[in-house]
Amino acid sequence: MTSRDQALNAPAGVEPCAGQRDGCERCGGLARERFPILRRAVHGLPLVYLDSAATSQKPEQVIAAEARYYREHNANVHRGMHALAAEATDLYEQCRRRVGRFLGVTRPEQVVTLRSATAALNLAAGGLAHRLRPGDEILVTGMEHHANLVPWIALARREGLVLRHLPVTDGGELDLGRLPDLLTDRTRVVALTHVSNVLGTINPVAEIVAAAHRRGALVVVDAAQSVGHLPVNFAALGADLLAFSAHKCYGPMGLGFLVGTPEALAQLEPVEFGGEMIETVTMDAATWAAVPLRFEAGTPHVAATAAFPAALDLVEEYTVERLRTHEISLTGYAWERLSALGGLTLHGPADPAARGGLISFHDPQLHAHDLAQLLDARGVAVRAGHHCAQPLHRRLGVAATARASFGLYNSHDDVDALIEGIRYARSVFGT
Ligand code: PLP
Repeated sequence: MTSRDQALNAPAGVEPCAGQRDGCERCGGLARERFPILRRAVHGLPLVYLDSAATSQKPEQVIAAEARYYREHNANVHRGMHALAAEATDLYEQCRRRVGRFLGVTRPEQVVTLRSATAALNLAAGGLAHRLRPGDEILVTGMEHHANLVPWIALARREGLVLRHLPVTDGGELDLGRLPDLLTDRTRVVALTHVSNVLGTINPVAEIVAAAHRRGALVVVDAAQSVGHLPVNFAALGADLLAFSAHKCYGPMGLGFLVGTPEALAQLEPVEFGGEMIETVTMDAATWAAVPLRFEAGTPHVAATAAFPAALDLVEEYTVERLRTHEISLTGYAWERLSALGGLTLHGPADPAARGGLISFHDPQLHAHDLAQLLDARGVAVRAGHHCAQPLHRRLGVAATARASFGLYNSHDDVDALIEGIRYARSVFGT
């Protein structure tokens, strides 16, 4: 029996898990013991963390690497002649190379180090402004996170552009049949998510990239929910620019990247100014440093760059293919058990192989916020709300959904705890 089974009665008919040890046959939880936060209790119960799509937990090796940076190497980068500054700069640049290798990018200059996926997408949109003319079109999709929608809305408003969107089908997929009409000879940019943070849908990025490129449009991919969870190879996707955050793939907060082809990055104008992003400055003029430093104004989050390679090491130790298999197994199991509860609407494709490791659902009898609060009382952490995708929730006809999302440390026991928690919430509300 797990400690959780002891704390709560094991659900009827479900065999208790033999343990949470690495690779447990029954639960499949991986590397759980390497995530110290998972040892803590919440409201006197073992924590069941099902909110990895918002942010994943951090393994000991990442926490240790960040602490080690402050203990042993702390200095500002790129501008010091002393040993610590050289060490900090090495760590910062090593992270760039490591991210490049992880994504199959050949040149480190193709990796821009920023503070988040949001910052990367803002750079993509803002950086392209000077190349766009009134009446030019941007194509987004109906399942974008606000981070890959609002920067394009703001850009369209400022530059007089036309913003179009590829709709979402009732099955939670992109309506690719509409693509030929929506891609026109005025389409300059196509911006889409790789994996929807609400529907879980994995979009056929390479296919959309090919269609967009035939029209001469540049493609920006939001890979916030895919990097570290499914194999992502920048060259294979064929995109021009790709954004993601370290914190969603077991890395530290405050760090994100914009990866691009040399040609696409060369088209971008910086959107933040100051610090080391310049080559020369006079009292009334400035020239920019080379790519990527021209996009990295100000003091970066060096400690996070010192720590992130340890997260990528963990992913590669297990292999992203194995992590993906694990998430498919958890998602399939969760889909089955949530469906069996009855009365819930589950959003997105039913096939776990066609979706990322998350499920959003709603119970018409129970507000998602109430549900999340009662789950929290049972130690189960899920997210509730619009998940920064208001237009998509409008399309789904609900104001809010609850979302359970998985990481390598999750187990089938965690899914069982979610199911028991939902039963408990329903009993509290008498539904
Ligand atoms: N894109 C998607 C699909 C996301 O799920 C998120 C975060 O939830 C983001 C972008 C923004 O990431 P960040 O908040 O790390 O900038």
